[in-house]
Amino acid sequence: MDIREVSVRCCIAGGGPAGMMLALLLARSGIAVLVLEKHVDFLRDFRGDTIHPSTLEVMHELGVLQEFLQRPHQEVRTLGGQIGDTFLQLADFTHLPTHCRFIALMPQWEFLSFIADQARRYPSFRIEMQAEAAALIEEGGRVVGVRAETPQGPLAVRADLVVGADGRHSIVREKAGLETIDLGAPMDVLWMRLSRLPTDPAQLGRLDAGRILVMLNREEYWQCAFVIPKGGFDQIRQGGLAAFRREIARLAPHLGDRVGELDDWTDIKLLTVAVDRLRVWHRPGLLCIGDAAHAMSPIGGVGINLAIQDAVAAANILVPRLLQGAPGENDLQAVQHRREFPTRATQRLQLLVQNRVIGHVLQSTGKLSPPLAVQLVGRWPLLRRIPARLIGIGFRPEHVRLPAAA
Ligand SMILES: Cc1cc2nc3c(=O)[nH]c(=O)nc-3n(C[C@H](O)[C@H](O)[C@H](O)COP(=O)(O)OP(=O)(O)OC[C@H]3O[C@@H](n4cnc5c(N)ncnc54)[C@H](O)[C@@H]3O)c2cc1C
Repeated sequence: MDIREVSVRCCIAGGGPAGMMLALLLARSGIAVLVLEKHVDFLRDFRGDTIHPSTLEVMHELGVLQEFLQRPHQEVRTLGGQIGDTFLQLADFTHLPTHCRFIALMPQWEFLSFIADQARRYPSFRIEMQAEAAALIEEGGRVVGVRAETPQGPLAVRADLVVGADGRHSIVREKAGLETIDLGAPMDVLWMRLSRLPTDPAQLGRLDAGRILVMLNREEYWQCAFVIPKGGFDQIRQGGLAAFRREIARLAPHLGDRVGELDDWTDIKLLTVAVDRLRVWHRPGLLCIGDAAHAMSPIGGVGINLAIQDAVAAANILVPRLLQGAPGENDLQAVQHRREFPTRATQRLQLLVQNRVIGHVLQSTGKLSPPLAVQLVGRWPLLRRIPARLIGIGFRPEHVRLPAAA
């Protein structure tokens, strides 16, 4: 079979939040970019749906915030939860120094379709769906392109820069031989949805002996995350669906009349939690960003937002180089240098919460009470601004620095 060949300035493997945002920013600066996305569409259930104020600020800087907020979403201004018998407010986003002082809950396919629609306004943007990056093309120790499988047959893309934005099971990082540091996680998460009634309490999380349930209000339904000990899904399945339903109803009694909606294990999706990062994010001709460079814990719902921040930083640093030709190794190193601190700092916080709080709760058998630091946050409204800032803006927020090409 003939191999189709294409040449482009930048080829991005993966049309998730990191890849699509970088593609939009490059195309907006007049750089020819091709995204290879292995799926036929953007439809994914239970992915990063939490669009934080840092990402909404990027939308504002791109001049598309109002249009973006026309898409279906819910706005979360405060976060609270119940630990044992005590209910506490834990984060208040309404004082952030950003245009949007809330988290927007938006299905990831809505978010990605919006970014794709924006990118299609620029003639230098191209996306090829059902194109799965399978191998790198290398010459003289430099990555000079990607080979992909498509329904029309093999595709060879030659590029001055290849970006691996293909998520936490990245083929690009594997083929590039980049070393991963695994930071470990004591938990996995089971995602499911249960219908919501207007009379339901506005509760977000419930921590009780050995159990954690987080509920996100999606208007007609609750998006529920049931946190389990790492590798514990098989044991839960062996216990049977009826016992699992009873457990959900015990943690959230208002859901007791609806747990029957879970009538098959296929209604429950397992997220195997991984926290890792690459030691070096690049090789000559190649850069990894987003989950491909650092898989995040679901704590704080920051994964999608860090992926976007990587894309903004990469565009700010690389566009001036890409306008002239291939970026050098020092340019790619500058992207890692810029993004490594926020990644490490966020992962460190996540590991702290994972190991000190979540691991502890999952192993506990007796009655739980909130730790002192959490009690203080619950008692003093001013302190709730700290978690809101860490979650909503994070460390070293990025800003769109480049104007759109004329
Ligand atoms: C079940 C679940 C729930 C989550 N919930 C949240 C949440 O609430 N909030 C949050 O912030 N984060 C959440 N995350 C994490 C979040 O989805 C990721 O951190 C974020 O999407 C990372 O963006 P990315 O673009 O780097 O990678 P991804 O979103 O993983 O995108 C990678 C893209 O590359 C494509 N791809 C993969 N391999 C190839 C290949 N070989 N060739 C071409 N294309 C390829 C994939 O189809 C995908 O579109 C969740 C993740 C999961 C799995």
